[in-house]
Amino acid sequence: METSSDSYPRGTALAAAAERVIPGGVNSTTRYIGTPYAFGSGSGAYLDDLDGHRYLDYHAAFGAMLLGHNFDAVDEAVREVIGGPVLSGLGVSELEVALAEKVTSLLPSAETMLLTMSGSEATAQAVRLARAATGRELIIKFQGGFHGGHDAVARNVISPADRAYGLDPLSKGILPSALDATLIAEFNDLDSVRELYDRHPGQIAGIILEPIPHNVGALLPTQEFAAGLRRLTTDNGSVLIFDEVITGFRHDLGGYQKILQVTPDVTTFGKGMANGYPIGGVAGRRDLMEHFSRDGDVLVAGTFNGNPVGCAAALATIGYLESHPDFYTRTHELGERLRSGLQKIATELGLPAHAAGFGGVFNLYFTADAPAGYRDLLRNDNDAYRLFHRRMTDRGFLMLPLALKRNHVSGSHTADDVEQTLAAAEQVLGEIAT
Ligand code: PLP
Repeated sequence: METSSDSYPRGTALAAAAERVIPGGVNSTTRYIGTPYAFGSGSGAYLDDLDGHRYLDYHAAFGAMLLGHNFDAVDEAVREVIGGPVLSGLGVSELEVALAEKVTSLLPSAETMLLTMSGSEATAQAVRLARAATGRELIIKFQGGFHGGHDAVARNVISPADRAYGLDPLSKGILPSALDATLIAEFNDLDSVRELYDRHPGQIAGIILEPIPHNVGALLPTQEFAAGLRRLTTDNGSVLIFDEVITGFRHDLGGYQKILQVTPDVTTFGKGMANGYPIGGVAGRRDLMEHFSRDGDVLVAGTFNGNPVGCAAALATIGYLESHPDFYTRTHELGERLRSGLQKIATELGLPAHAAGFGGVFNLYFTADAPAGYRDLLRNDNDAYRLFHRRMTDRGFLMLPLALKRNHVSGSHTADDVEQTLAAAEQVLGEIAT
């Protein structure tokens, strides 16, 4: 496949039209990668662009396409809600109750659940809840952890190396006081968290973390770290928030918290839940969640919260996962095959690269040593990753363009897809090594 604009006449025309009417031509900054992709259709693990190219999709809409594109069981459930009262703006729907019942039945930490539209709204509500429940202001997040684009969490998000340890808001326009109220610790480094508690006694409202920081690929938490965070938050009266927007339902029906055997106070959900349809949610301990109730003290507002499309899609997605437990064994096996295959190719070529990930999530870091923490990731050879990404895409294998993000095996990928991917990776890594 060629990448000159001649190969993408419709994509190029669409990108030009977008530049005229959409700032920067895309509606979310990380969607822009310079190539005029415009996808017209998708099916299972594949996406087709308007110019006739077909891609095996490991980007999977940043992981939202858990089961695959145009997945009948989910799309059919969505079609069924269209024609009913799409929105009433009053009371509650059967779908909202059914979804909250389903999630609370699957995760012991989830006693009640508030539905939102997106993962960002879920984490914003969770942070606000931690502050309201404790009467404190400070929140701890971890370097590289991404929890959405809002002010409370917009620090140290895939920072360039030289800004990684300073104040690096994701954006201008954020109140300095919002940044000051967000403290940064290092993942898998309990001492860095203890230090913050020592420096700000009685002031830390809560800790928010991706239990696997998939937004920097995959640093797996040590059991000691996760259990230590549980202890520290309990001992200090702060709220422990697991952001399972990616990990929730992807690795286990009980979330990554079940695999870790650590129970957070509050969990946020989003893109892992509804196979591409918009939804988010906050679930947690009943007494905490009561702050969201009409007699509580935390504002909840959202015209589209608990919208029927997202709820129906989430119920169908979770229902499918419940009735197909082989989803987990299959995606884990395929993910493992990709990780071990990529590692073997890199090692045989003498390339300093390390395959990482968990379950159906995989990534290739271009580092000399296996990364153990965020500081190691800052030494990732981004140029090498970009070349890998570019050449894999040219061969029809769509991956995330950001070196420290991750790729996803969906429920529609097959062993044959994985073997083809490894064959292409062998060629591409061979070219990079020479
Ligand atoms: N939390 C995590 C872990 C995420 O990866 C994301 C999105 O990338 C969010 C929160 C924000 O979710 P959304 O994009 O639905 O607002």
